[in-house]
Amino acid sequence: MNAHLQSWLGEQLQALRDQNLYKIPKILESPAGGRVQMNGKQVINLSSNNYLGLANHPKVREAALKAIDEWGVGAGAVRWIGGTMRIHDELEQRLAKFKQTEAVLVFTGGFTANSGAIPAVVTDKDVIISDELNHASIIDGVRLGSAKYKKSDGLVYAHKDMEALEKILQNTQSFQKRMIITDGVFSMDGDIAPLPAIVELAEKYDAFVMVDDAHASGVLGKNGAGTTSHFNLYGRVDIQLGTLSKALGVVGGYIAGSAALKDWLINRGRPYLFSTAHPPMVAAALIASLDIMENDPEPMQRLWDNTRWWKNALAEAGFDTMGSETPITPVYVGDEGAAQAMERALWEEGVYALAIVYPTVARGKARLRTMPSAAHTKEDLADALEAFKRVRDMMGSA
Ligand SMILES: *Cc1c(COP(=O)(O)O)cnc(C)c1O
Repeated sequence: MNAHLQSWLGEQLQALRDQNLYKIPKILESPAGGRVQMNGKQVINLSSNNYLGLANHPKVREAALKAIDEWGVGAGAVRWIGGTMRIHDELEQRLAKFKQTEAVLVFTGGFTANSGAIPAVVTDKDVIISDELNHASIIDGVRLGSAKYKKSDGLVYAHKDMEALEKILQNTQSFQKRMIITDGVFSMDGDIAPLPAIVELAEKYDAFVMVDDAHASGVLGKNGAGTTSHFNLYGRVDIQLGTLSKALGVVGGYIAGSAALKDWLINRGRPYLFSTAHPPMVAAALIASLDIMENDPEPMQRLWDNTRWWKNALAEAGFDTMGSETPITPVYVGDEGAAQAMERALWEEGVYALAIVYPTVARGKARLRTMPSAAHTKEDLADALEAFKRVRDMMGSA
């Protein structure tokens, strides 16, 4: 190993440790679920995106195993070169029907769907207008494109501020195309984008809209079809991104929209063009997840029942959940050190809830991010609440 690189890595890692930004992933020793075995300890897991409990659902497991028997474990190639199996095609048709759009194109992840779709639909004559709290994968996708997008160019609006968005639309009329891009559900605060107002402004100023529904997929709208369905904006959101990695319990991302959009991304979406297709068992498992979402309302009901219970219980106990409207429930702490100490104390009490600190969120806005799901029982959540109270009493803060 090159000595120069080695010493540079050492210095950079030390800097992260000095700033309390150094991450050590915990090792999950059991399937994803409400209670898990992690780093040798039984804990209630409040940090998973397995919203509907599908990641370890018997029907989804069974579909994956069956697909291995039928198709083997790998697709063998990039999709357009020879890696699109019939089951990949079937998944896209099912998703398009689910989303009520003309077409869907699947990518290997939500992150890659953003890096594929965003740069493909803009040129250097265009602008991209963003909410300041958009997800990192949107920001990276935007950076890969040739459109103007920067905050210093006045193209980033304060979180959900529709007056600010309208001003930007008024100031950018000379550009060829204008794309407004937003999270559907914001991943750190759990609030919902004002999509009806965004769509109206877009229509008024001839811009187009892309929404990243990673945290709305399986959570909001009819059977979990997302924010466009939740707000009944069918046909008015140009590009919808969904993830298959969170509520759907497997892995993947997709773009839903017009047939022409899909066609264009098949020809110009770089992760589609240059990265191998999902294993067929992934597509099969996802079709099984969709079957459950479309035919069994119980997991989504349990998700929302648990979400309401958890938010009410925290509020009654005096915790601040920061205006969250979805299962993503931040518990406000403020100080970075206090949030990290609280994470460690909760772990000792058998609860895994991650502290989210700067730079993921603003300085002084540290929080614990909790995610109730359909995989939790009421007892899991009641036990977690007692742990939160004990830790607060112990620390005399939050
Ligand atoms: C998680 C997430 C993604 C990435 O999705 P993956 O399928 O995990 O790659 C994209 N956008 C948002 C808003 C997310 O929260």
